[in-house]
Amino acid sequence: MSEIMKLVIVVPCYNEEEVLVETTRQLSSVVDELLSDGKIGEGKILYVDDGSHDRTWELIRGFSETHPSVSGLKLAHNVGHQQALWAGLEWAASYADAAVSIDADLQDDVRSIVSMVDAWRGGSDIVYGVRRERATDTFFKKNTALAFYKLMNALGGDVVYNHADFRLMSRRTLQALMAYPERNLFLRGMVSALGYPSARVYYDRKERMAGESKYPLSKMLSFALDGITSFSVRPLRYISMLGLLFILISLVAIVYGIVVYVEGNTIPGWTSLLVSVWFIGGTILMALGIIGEYVGKVYKEVKRRPRYFVEQTAGMQEPQA
Ligand code: UDP
Ligand code: MG
Repeated sequence: MSEIMKLVIVVPCYNEEEVLVETTRQLSSVVDELLSDGKIGEGKILYVDDGSHDRTWELIRGFSETHPSVSGLKLAHNVGHQQALWAGLEWAASYADAAVSIDADLQDDVRSIVSMVDAWRGGSDIVYGVRRERATDTFFKKNTALAFYKLMNALGGDVVYNHADFRLMSRRTLQALMAYPERNLFLRGMVSALGYPSARVYYDRKERMAGESKYPLSKMLSFALDGITSFSVRPLRYISMLGLLFILISLVAIVYGIVVYVEGNTIPGWTSLLVSVWFIGGTILMALGIIGEYVGKVYKEVKRRPRYFVEQTAGMQEPQA
């Protein structure tokens, strides 16, 4: 490994004015430590302002004037955490030997970045930040998260348990990632699918330092659904299997009906008819919905819309897109 290794810490921010001063203080101190220990030759903090409506961008611009290590990208509108992170990683891929992605709210342990860099210097291309326990989560979030990881893995999506988007990626990992053309991003799944040598760093996830979560339950659910449908088409096969099962059941019912008829009886069947009509109707609608999810994805992908637009940059020598 050459001596002037460049590290970029990519931080997507959406309305994070309450935390950014502290985040900058803590991240800069980690960068300074890495520099003075000679573990990196150059360190940058890249804030990606994801179309915030508060003073986030003014703060970022201010830091870029007072801290030589801070730079910023201001996106023209809110594109969501995953796309904002992509914007930062795309810039990092053209510059850095490694990039760390971390949320702005200091829930992830910034000290772990040092261990990540150590693991990277030791030869790992990807270093996953993994939450040791979910003490700060509600019972509900803990269990829905667990169910999600189980489902995801059962469906063939290879995600690291209790890892979100706090990770280090080497240059070649970043470049490989940039080769993925898809617009529906589920970065934690995409990165682990790359298969480069990886390591894990365990940490305790804290409460958000200030401000509110930008991921309410509805967004979390749609993100989970997105993750599943981005990585697996097995739900489509399960629909066919369900259809087959219903046909088999109906065959049994037909045979039974004929036998009873031949014996000279008719079956009184209002309730059973009503129940099965509703049941089958519901199942068909659900199946259509699942197919619709995939059709919607295909629609979004074929449009090939640009992922984001950069409105302004701060603290960068050359403007980057
Ligand atoms: N974020 C973003 N764009 C959005 C929503 C969130 O860039 O549209 C950023 C946010 O500023 C934070 C990170 O994504 O740095 C994670 O969001 P948050 O902490 O609200 O999610 P949670 O930790 O509650 O899942
Ligand atoms: Mg958070």
